[in-house]
Amino acid sequence: MAAKRGASSSVAVRGVAKQLKRFAEGEAPLPSERFSATVRMTLQRAPHGSDELADDCIFCKIVNKELPADLVFEDDELIAFNDISPQAPVHVLVVPKAHIPTVNDLDEDHAGLVGRMVLRAQALAEARGIDEDGYRLILNCNAGGGQTVFHIHLHLLGGRQLRMLG
Ligand code: 5GP
Ligand code: ZN
Repeated sequence: MAAKRGASSSVAVRGVAKQLKRFAEGEAPLPSERFSATVRMTLQRAPHGSDELADDCIFCKIVNKELPADLVFEDDELIAFNDISPQAPVHVLVVPKAHIPTVNDLDEDHAGLVGRMVLRAQALAEARGIDEDGYRLILNCNAGGGQTVFHIHLHLLGGRQLRMLG
């Protein structure tokens, strides 16, 4: 367990380092709010034995049962709950328990996790009876992508006709 937390933590740190390197090499613009959010969530961790948790992360608090949520699924790796401000009749967030700030912090090691997030959303869509009509899965990344909670989460939206994107 401790090893898992350490791994998750170093993955987040690697993500920040990768962003810094790309920025330093002039390969990527680095909007200040994106950088500060990632650094903030990476560096601010609960002090004792829970280094994957960011102190002020709402979703870590939900994972940790410090904040209530309308849970629809939980296992060792993932938690899913209804969005507090639903944008459709079905609006569920599928969230890894590990604190990973943004999609930019993902790497090859997370491929299985991300796959299981999608498969969990698929199963929840079926359970809610929206699989045949259809649904949308969304991962917002950073402020420009509409991300407001800096702990990755997959939105499952459905139960009404969704507008075309763009
Ligand atoms: P984002 O904009 O980061 O992609 O999505 C964050 C989502 O989290 C939003 O849809 C927002 O309504 C939801 N949210 C924010 N705070 C809470 C909370 O405390 N509880 C729940 N259930 N959802 C939340
Ligand atoms: Zn978190």
